[in-house]
Amino acid sequence: MTDKKGFTSCIVHHDRRQKFSNGPVHAPIYNSVLYNHDKTQDLIDIFQGTKAGYSYSRQATPTSDSLQNLVNEAEQGIGSLVFATGMAAISSVFLTLLKAGDHLIASQYLFGNTHSLLLTLQELGIEVSLVDTCDLESVMAAKQANTRMVFTETIANPGTQIADLSAIGDWCAELGLVYFVDNTMTSPYLFRPKAVKAALVMNSLSKFFCGHGSVLGGSITDTGQFNWQDYPNIFDAYRKGDSSKWALMQIKKKYLRDMGGSLSADAAYQIAVGAETMALRMDRSNASALALAQMLDAHPKVKKVYYPGLATHPQHDLATKLFKKYGSLLSFDLIDGADCAAFLDSIDMVLNATHLGDNRTLALPMASTIFFEMGPKNRASIGIGDTMIRCSVGIEETDDLLSEFSAALEQL
Ligand SMILES: *Cc1c(COP(=O)(O)O)cnc(C)c1O
Repeated sequence: MTDKKGFTSCIVHHDRRQKFSNGPVHAPIYNSVLYNHDKTQDLIDIFQGTKAGYSYSRQATPTSDSLQNLVNEAEQGIGSLVFATGMAAISSVFLTLLKAGDHLIASQYLFGNTHSLLLTLQELGIEVSLVDTCDLESVMAAKQANTRMVFTETIANPGTQIADLSAIGDWCAELGLVYFVDNTMTSPYLFRPKAVKAALVMNSLSKFFCGHGSVLGGSITDTGQFNWQDYPNIFDAYRKGDSSKWALMQIKKKYLRDMGGSLSADAAYQIAVGAETMALRMDRSNASALALAQMLDAHPKVKKVYYPGLATHPQHDLATKLFKKYGSLLSFDLIDGADCAAFLDSIDMVLNATHLGDNRTLALPMASTIFFEMGPKNRASIGIGDTMIRCSVGIEETDDLLSEFSAALEQL
C-alpha cells in the first residue's frame, strides 16, 4: 500500500493486482488440500524453501495468502499470517515465541478468552503479570529479568480503558521487549500499532474486517521494527536468511504446520470481501456510537457511559491523539435496580448477541452473562456493575438507533 492512497482505495484494488490467471477481481477460493507439481524437483524445492509454491493447505493457500497480503497492507507490515480465529492468532505468538521460564506482562483488562489463555500459559510454565496498561508505571514495575514480551489491547472491552500505547512502545523499544498489540477493537482503519513501535499486531478478522458475522478469522502482522537476531527463542532452524522474517517463519512452521489453526479458503474469501467496506462501515457505526453515547450520557435513566469519544472519558485526549475515531463499542450503566433484560427486549433493532464489529447493533447485560461466573465481588473490583450493558453499534441509520434507545429508556 502506498502512503499516498487511502485505506479503502488500497483494499478495493488489492486482489486484482495479484495476477490470478484469467484476471478475477476477487482472489478465487482454492478449495484443495493438496497441490500437484509437474516435476518432483519443484515439490522438493518448495519443501526446502528454495522455491515459492504450495504443498498442503494447512500452511497456506493462494486465497489465504491473498488475504494475508491485504491485512499486511492495511497494517503496513513486512509480513502477515492468517489463522482460523483470532484466538488461534493470539495463541500462535504466545506458544511459539515464549517458552517455560519466560515472563509476559499483559493488560489486566483483556478479552475474557485471552485472559483464560494466559492461565493455560501459566500451566505451561510461562510467568504472567497482569497490570493496568493505562499506566506506564505499573507496566514498568512488573519488569523482571526474564520478561520477554508485553501484550495489550488498544481499547478494552467492556470498560473502554485505553492503554498508554505509545509510552509502552517507547519503553519496550528501549528495553528490547517484544511489544504485541491486539488491534481488534480499533482495526488498522482507526489505528496502526506500528506507529507506537509495536513489534507484532493481532487482529480478530471475525470482527470489523469481515463485519458480516459470517466467518471467523485472525491475523498476525510483523511491523518490521523488532530485531529478531536479539531474540533468544528463535530456533536455529529459522535463523536463516533475512532476519526480519524469522519470527513469522517460526510462527508459520511451529503453529500453522505443527498445531494447525489454519484459515479455510472459503473464510479467507469472505473476510476479503467484507474488508472492502470496513472503512465505510466503521465511519457509520463510529458516528452512531458517538451520537448514542452522547444521548445516553445526557439521559436521567443512565448512570454512566463508557465511550472514549466523550470528553469525560479518562483517556479521551489519548484516544483523540492516537485514533482516527473512537470505535463502535460503548458500555453504559442503567440507573440502579433497572431490569437490563427488559430494557434490551424493548429495543427491536438490537440483537441479543455476544460479538462485536458486526453490521447489526448487538447488546448484552454484562454481569449476568460474560462476567457471571466471576461473582459480584470480583465484578465490582473491575468495575462491572449489575446494570452494565455492552453495546456494539452496527450500521443501521443513526436516527433509528437513537429513537429506539430513547423510547426504551422512557419505558424504564
Ligand atoms: C473477539 C476478540 C478476540 C478473539 O477473536 P476470535 O476471532 O473470536 O477468536 C480477541 N481479542 C479481542 C479484543 C476480541 O474482541
